[in-house]
Amino acid sequence: MSTQSSLLPIAIVGGGFSGTLTAIHLSRRLPDTPIILFEESSEAGPGLAYGNSSGGHLLNVRAGGMSAFPEAPDHFLRFAERELVRRVDPAEFLPRPLYGLYLQQLLRDARGKNPRLEVRRASVVDIATTGGIHQARLVLKDGSTLDVSRVILATGNRGSSFRSSLWASQVISARDPDSYAGLHPDAPVVIIGTALSMIDAVGELERRGHRGPIHVTSRHGLLPHAYAPPSDVPPPSLDHLPDSNLRKIVRLFRKAVAEHTAVGGDWRDLFALLRPETPGLWQELSLKDRKRFLRFISPFWEIHRHQCAPQTRELIDRLRLTGHLTVHRGVLVSVERKDKGYSLQFANRSRELPNRTLVADRILDATGPARDLETLRHPLICNLLRRGFLTTDVHRLGAQTLADYRAVQRDGQPTPWLHVIGPMLRARYFEATAVPELRLHAAALAARIAGEIRQQEDLTASTATAA
Ligand SMILES: Cc1cc2nc3c(=O)[nH]c(=O)nc-3n(C[C@H](O)[C@H](O)[C@H](O)COP(=O)(O)OP(=O)(O)OC[C@H]3O[C@@H](n4cnc5c(N)ncnc54)[C@H](O)[C@@H]3O)c2cc1C
Repeated sequence: MSTQSSLLPIAIVGGGFSGTLTAIHLSRRLPDTPIILFEESSEAGPGLAYGNSSGGHLLNVRAGGMSAFPEAPDHFLRFAERELVRRVDPAEFLPRPLYGLYLQQLLRDARGKNPRLEVRRASVVDIATTGGIHQARLVLKDGSTLDVSRVILATGNRGSSFRSSLWASQVISARDPDSYAGLHPDAPVVIIGTALSMIDAVGELERRGHRGPIHVTSRHGLLPHAYAPPSDVPPPSLDHLPDSNLRKIVRLFRKAVAEHTAVGGDWRDLFALLRPETPGLWQELSLKDRKRFLRFISPFWEIHRHQCAPQTRELIDRLRLTGHLTVHRGVLVSVERKDKGYSLQFANRSRELPNRTLVADRILDATGPARDLETLRHPLICNLLRRGFLTTDVHRLGAQTLADYRAVQRDGQPTPWLHVIGPMLRARYFEATAVPELRLHAAALAARIAGEIRQQEDLTASTATAA
């Protein structure tokens, strides 16, 4: 069985950053194993984050932090310099499509070195087992099937957290360029969400010469902070943060921030210091503390942790100053069609104040990708959940996985042939959405799978010798 399964290809479903990088690492480690990277959009590499976006959208991590390989921190920088034919400062925020080109180039290079790495433009819609421990049968959209030894689920950022709302049908995706078509330049627009996706939407309106009022709204009305380079003041150590008491962690962290800023440091230094520790802290928190964090702290955490390029934040500040953009705080309670547009009611967080009414010709959903797998409509995710091979975590942040990236199935056991990579790992690590973390996960997952396959092969070889 093991000999047979090791001849079968490894399938990676999803050719965004996570799938592409895992494929590259696997193809280096397993030169004799066929690897197939499935991508349902027109091109593998860019994924949702770095493809199809307007050239004006900038990366939200500076160029020096975007290398696909942490052991070669200048790797992306050098690529950017070759492409742009100029020197690139590591602190620059480069256009997102450039990063898509980088990933495409990495994939081309890897395929040039290992012809067993194949890219297939197809949508995987279902996966069934065939009885073997390391064997699964992929079902593609065209109805064809393929037996593989393992599946790496790298389906990434999908859906929207607003899709399950009552008013989802009146609200269109801010990510879709068609959502802006035919919009009168003076028309009022409401954008649901005030985080990074909102900034993209406002950038898109600006590029299209929109002059009308833009209302951006969210429960807390908080905007992401702009990135700033690390300050010269060395930040205090965070070693004294306890592992498992949220209240204490927050208190001590805030104290450290206050002390650091009091001597001229920047609060961002402390967030950068905490970032690699976040997965460990998250795993040590009790269920109750995690819930508390998500309910009360995460909105504030998110706007500090997920910073944007300074020039993107400047655009928002400028539009606010000129009165073109207004930030609102409140919960959407009704949407009614009115004349050519809509009338929206937002409940004020303070119950004493009356609801706020906004009118808009268009309502854009900029709430960002969905985390709750149960709200996704893609047939593959629906089928994996239905079959019990994939399960959501209790906080609905992503997929339940083990330390070896195997998916946890409905009976609590690992699904032997199914591994997960990408933002779905948030359930386990909380901090697992951006390149600096995902590149480590991709390398670690490839190392694990390669180690496992080698072990199987050694076992088969020694059994054959003994016989
Ligand atoms: C708009 C946006 C901008 C971002 N900008 C940054 C940034 O500047 N810096 C940073 O560090 N992080 C950024 N991120 C975070 C981002 O999550 C990661 O950097 C990374 O790109 C995630 O890649 P992924 O491959 O896991 O997911 P995705 O990029 O979503 O790719 C998943 C791919 O899988 C394909 N797919 C899905 N299902 C199937 C199927 N059934 N069959 C075949 N193919 C399938 C999809 O078509 C897609 O191409 C951004 C995220 C978003 C959404």
